[in-house]
Amino acid sequence: MAESNHFDVIVIGSGPGGEGAAMGLTKAGLNVAIVEKETSVGGGCTHWGTIPSKSLRHAVSRIIEFNSNPLFCHNNTSLHSTFSNILSHAKSVIDKQTRLRQSFYDRNQCSLIFGTARFTDKHTIAVTQLDGTEELYSADQFVIATGSRPYQPKDVDFMHDRIYDSDSILSLSHDPRHIIIYGAGVIGCEYASIFRGLGVKTDLINTRDRLLSFLDNEVSDALSYHFWNSGVVIRNDETYEKIEGTDQGVIIHLESGKKMRADCLLFANGRAGNTDKLNLSAAGLNADSRGQLNVDSNYQTDVAHIYAVGDVIGYPSLASAAYDQGRFVAQAIEKGQADSHLIEDIPTGIYTIPEISSVGKTEQELTTAKIPYEVGRSSFKHLARAQIAGKDIGSLKILFHRETKEILGIHCFGERAAEIIHIGQAIMEQKGEANTIDYFVNTTFNYPTMAEAYRVAALNGLNRLF
Ligand SMILES: Cc1cc2nc3c(=O)[nH]c(=O)nc-3n(C[C@H](O)[C@H](O)[C@H](O)COP(=O)(O)OP(=O)(O)OC[C@H]3O[C@@H](n4cnc5c(N)ncnc54)[C@H](O)[C@@H]3O)c2cc1C
Repeated sequence: MAESNHFDVIVIGSGPGGEGAAMGLTKAGLNVAIVEKETSVGGGCTHWGTIPSKSLRHAVSRIIEFNSNPLFCHNNTSLHSTFSNILSHAKSVIDKQTRLRQSFYDRNQCSLIFGTARFTDKHTIAVTQLDGTEELYSADQFVIATGSRPYQPKDVDFMHDRIYDSDSILSLSHDPRHIIIYGAGVIGCEYASIFRGLGVKTDLINTRDRLLSFLDNEVSDALSYHFWNSGVVIRNDETYEKIEGTDQGVIIHLESGKKMRADCLLFANGRAGNTDKLNLSAAGLNADSRGQLNVDSNYQTDVAHIYAVGDVIGYPSLASAAYDQGRFVAQAIEKGQADSHLIEDIPTGIYTIPEISSVGKTEQELTTAKIPYEVGRSSFKHLARAQIAGKDIGSLKILFHRETKEILGIHCFGERAAEIIHIGQAIMEQKGEANTIDYFVNTTFNYPTMAEAYRVAALNGLNRLF
């Protein structure tokens, strides 16, 4: 093998996990290559996951805002758009993100190899390029950051032109009047908001008994209410028996005996780790039944010189966490041990309409653990900034220990929740006595702001103490 085909580290996959690792390793002075099976960098995050879904959601929420604001909406005219129209906005953001991410590799002189990687032995990979040619590369160490893909059960015909998963929905070219979304996890709920916001009749089939059951019950109830109020039909506790593609659309037969028909179906129920093409056995590795790899606290797999980060190792399966894991694995490879680790309370950002964000414990968790907590609430409708912006749907809830006043959890529902949560998170993460709810009543907030919700909620909670 040519000397130029040997690297200190080869990273497989250029999503946030791979990018974080490759950047950390090149900055540490190592000779690094990154392998990507698609024709551009950025990973599932940029091309099929986070970035497109958030761009679509943004476009839809602006349309809703326009149509509900009397300043813009005259003579009963309203703005109407279709999924294919708003896809062009998503595509322009994807292009900008791809160019930006490509520039990181160029600037840091990280070698980019396009093609699909598979191990041929513990220190060698074969990369199959688009034209079918194959080249061998070797490295002292590897980082597997190949991400995940939508789970596709064998009895669902994803080749049918009206049955989509969360990747293929981005090539939807007709304009459905009615969609069934199977799976009411984060991705299913976000797409339900997008389609309903475009005026598409939306049925959301949930295999569980409530929406997003990991959330605080009040927040999950609020989402169910707002979905119901906007016309999304939620069917809880249902499982499909058969999904039938027809000439006009799709019919889903549920185990409960119900049947539903729509123009198309988005199957968004679970994800699988991308390990099937890696020929892991040649490297002495095995993935579990969900295609995921097992790692230790340094992201080291069972084979000492092979590491893994991001969705391919499972929880929390977030772009935010994958990027951090990439940076930490670079430290582990450079120094033998990572300097930092993922924080315990990873915030949740859910870009439904309205938006949801949480950090820390839920009321259910605190009650089960018998922790004496109190609740402080603030309703957006009472905040001047929310009234000015016409965004009065929403609330902020702070859970705190009734004796120590330590902040235990923050749950936000409404416009910009994913941004608002970070104010509380910054205080919650403080050590010693600095992480109490008192901070919010002792500080001065800009006025009018959404951040003021913290002061209102803190006063509300402290007033409950006796
Ligand atoms: C619809 C949707 C919405 C989401 N929204 C959010 C959100 O709002 N916030 C958030 O934090 N997370 C979100 N996520 C999750 C987020 O996208 C993932 O957690 C993140 O992309 C994982 O990063 P990764 O680096 O592990 O993998 P990926 O981003 O999936 O990248 C993996 C890369 O590896 C490449 N690859 C795979 N196999 C090979 C091989 N054999 N050889 C070479 N290359 C290979 C792939 O082509 C891909 O480019 C969302 C996901 C989806 C699907």
